[in-house]
Amino acid sequence: MSKINHQTRAFGSPSRYIQGRYEINNLKEYTDAYGQHVLILVDTFFFKEYSQKFNTMYSNGPSKVIVKEFIGEITAEKIDAIVEEVKDFVPDVVVGMGGGKTMDTAKAVSNEYKATTIIIPTTASTDAPTIGLSVIYTKDGKHVGARHYVKNPDLVLLDTDIISKAPSRFFVAGMGDALSTYVETRANLQSHSPNYVGKGFCATIAVEAISKACHETILKKGRSALMAIKNGLCTIDVEDVIEANTLLSGLGVQNSSCAGSHSIAEGITIIPECSKLYHGEAVAFGVLVQLIIEGRPSEEINEIYTFFNDVGLPTTFEMLGIKNVNDADLMKVAEESLKSYWDVEPFSVTATMVFDAMKMANAKGVALKK
Ligand SMILES: [Zn+2]
Repeated sequence: MSKINHQTRAFGSPSRYIQGRYEINNLKEYTDAYGQHVLILVDTFFFKEYSQKFNTMYSNGPSKVIVKEFIGEITAEKIDAIVEEVKDFVPDVVVGMGGGKTMDTAKAVSNEYKATTIIIPTTASTDAPTIGLSVIYTKDGKHVGARHYVKNPDLVLLDTDIISKAPSRFFVAGMGDALSTYVETRANLQSHSPNYVGKGFCATIAVEAISKACHETILKKGRSALMAIKNGLCTIDVEDVIEANTLLSGLGVQNSSCAGSHSIAEGITIIPECSKLYHGEAVAFGVLVQLIIEGRPSEEINEIYTFFNDVGLPTTFEMLGIKNVNDADLMKVAEESLKSYWDVEPFSVTATMVFDAMKMANAKGVALKK
C-alpha cells in the first residue's frame, strides 16, 4: 500500500490545450506569442508534407524556423545530438509533431534550452501529449527510464482533421487507454496514494470529476465516433472522444496515478506476441482484470465488455495475440505486473489473485463472444 501521510493536494496540467479542425494552420500565430526561434521536430511519416508547409508558413519573418525529421527510437544520444545541432540557433520554442517518441524528444530538447514546449499529436492513441515527462529507450528499443520535467507542455495543439484521418486502430487504442482513467483514479482515491504531480500529492476533486467525464464520454460517444472515423468524418462525437482520449485521460493519470490496468499492460509485454499490441489495447485488457480483482458489480463489468466487443478492444487472450496460453507464462505475467502499480489498489494484491483475474477476464470474454 502506498498511502501518503499528509493532506496536501496538487494538480498539474499543460498551460494551454487547443483542439480543432485545421488548427495546424495557426501554428505560427501560436509560436509568435512565445518566441522567434522555432525548432520543429516532425515524425518521418509527415515530414515531407509538413516541412514544406512550415517553411512556407515562417517565410515572412521575423520568426525563424528549423524543421527536422524525427526517425526511430528516442535515445539519450539522439536528444544530445539534436541539442548540439541547434546550439547556434538557440530555440526558444520547441515543437514536436507526431507520435509519442517525437513528442517526448521535443520535450527533452526543449527542457535543455528552457524553451517553450508545443506538442502536436497526430493520433488520439494515448494520454502522453499533456504530460511533462519523456520515456527514454536504447537504440534497440529497451526501456531505460523516464525524464521528469518541472513543467507540462506549454501548449498541446490538436488538429482534428489530421487525427480523424489516422488509422482507426489508434483511435480505438486511445479509448482503451482512456477507459483506465476513471477505474485507476478510483483505486488511487480509495487507497489515498500519491499522484504524479511533482513529489506526489493527494488527488483533487477536479481529477475525480475529470476522470468520470472521460469515462462517460467514451462509453456514450465512442461507438458513433468510431463509425465516423471509419468513414473519414470528423463529427462532434469524434471531437469529444479525442478530447477524452487526450486531455481528460492525460489530466486523469497525472493527477491521480496508474493502478492495476497499467500493471497488466506492463506485465504482458514479457509475452513476445503481445509486443505488437498498441499500449491502449494492452491497457484495455488490464481494465477488465482490475475490475474483476476489485470485485466490481456485474453491471459495471458487463458494460465495459459490451463496449469493448462493439469497438474491437481485446477481451480474450486470443484477441491479445496469445496463441498457446499456458499457466506458467500467465503466472510470469502476473508476477511481472506486481512490479508496476498494483500497490495503488486499496488492498494487497498477490500474483495468484492477478493470475486468477486474468483467466477470469479471458473466460468471460470467450463466453460473451459465443
Ligand atoms: Zn496509458
